[in-house]
Amino acid sequence: MPAVSERPVLRHDWTRAEVRALFELPFPELLHRAAGVHRAHFDPAQVQVSTLLSIKTGGCPEDCGYCPQAARYHTGVEATKLMSTEAVLEKARQAKAAGASRFCMGAAWRSPKDRDIPKVAAMIREVKALGLETCATLGMLSGEQARALKDAGLDYYNHNLDTAPEFYNRIIHTREIQDRLDTLAHVRDAGLKTCCGGIVGMGESREQRAGLLQTLANLPAHPDSVPINRLVRVEGTPLAGTAELDPFEFVRTIAVARILMPRSMVRLSAGRESMSDELQALCFLAGANSIFYGEKLLTTGNPDTERDMALFARLGLRPMPVVEQGETVHADIVESPARGRAA
Ligand code: SF4
Repeated sequence: MPAVSERPVLRHDWTRAEVRALFELPFPELLHRAAGVHRAHFDPAQVQVSTLLSIKTGGCPEDCGYCPQAARYHTGVEATKLMSTEAVLEKARQAKAAGASRFCMGAAWRSPKDRDIPKVAAMIREVKALGLETCATLGMLSGEQARALKDAGLDYYNHNLDTAPEFYNRIIHTREIQDRLDTLAHVRDAGLKTCCGGIVGMGESREQRAGLLQTLANLPAHPDSVPINRLVRVEGTPLAGTAELDPFEFVRTIAVARILMPRSMVRLSAGRESMSDELQALCFLAGANSIFYGEKLLTTGNPDTERDMALFARLGLRPMPVVEQGETVHADIVESPARGRAA
């Protein structure tokens, strides 16, 4: 291990100009730099695999312009009640059998009610007992709720920043970006690992994509996982008619995220099912090293899952074992002082 003074430092003081300059590099140069950072911190042949289950779908009171689960949009999504623990466990067993190492449980809430927490805590305990890492995304949390989830054995909490601070009010009107930052602080304070990224292709400018990544990288701790979603334009949502983002710009976003947050899992998330195999391969080259496994999840013989495994085989990639996903593999990296919560 190198002496302390020689250790690579995780920066939390990126300026907008620096991030913009990365975006503006010639494409081959940007990918070269990102691939170098990737292999300095990870085995580039390994991809972490997570599975996502919606444990409570639709009927959400928020107005996120991209989301088919918002009650106010007519998208054909039917609201459901919270699933039973036994039904969640059955899905978790299937996910494990299909090769997932992390099981994420998502509920379409603005924030959970206190009475919901013991029910979700029971699910977390049981899923954890199967030997899976656990992640939840339940909306905004109080400090007390975050601690209760941690006590139940939760490993990760997902809470995305969605977009750049200066673009936030164009997409969401029922909360402020500071609400997101506050929940992330509660999650960190409770000792949970954070999963936090955003969505691109919502009509934002390159400057605003840079603003999203700058804000993520300048959080007091880099998120452990950074999902970069590509907008899925769902009929009935306000963003249904948004022009498609240039796929190379999406790859640039992945590459810049990798450079800014070298030891984070950069995840291809929503929108991956509509990407070509070639585009996904470029994303892996640019430093993406985590995926959600299949989009229509957990069904035996799921064609999405089969396509993923075929792509892994063609590219010589393999799922990352759980034991190699923790912070221990990065023990030679030190954190620089955080500049503050927001950019
Ligand atoms: S809070 Fe989550 S579930 Fe609710 S509308 Fe926004 S993205 Fe959808």
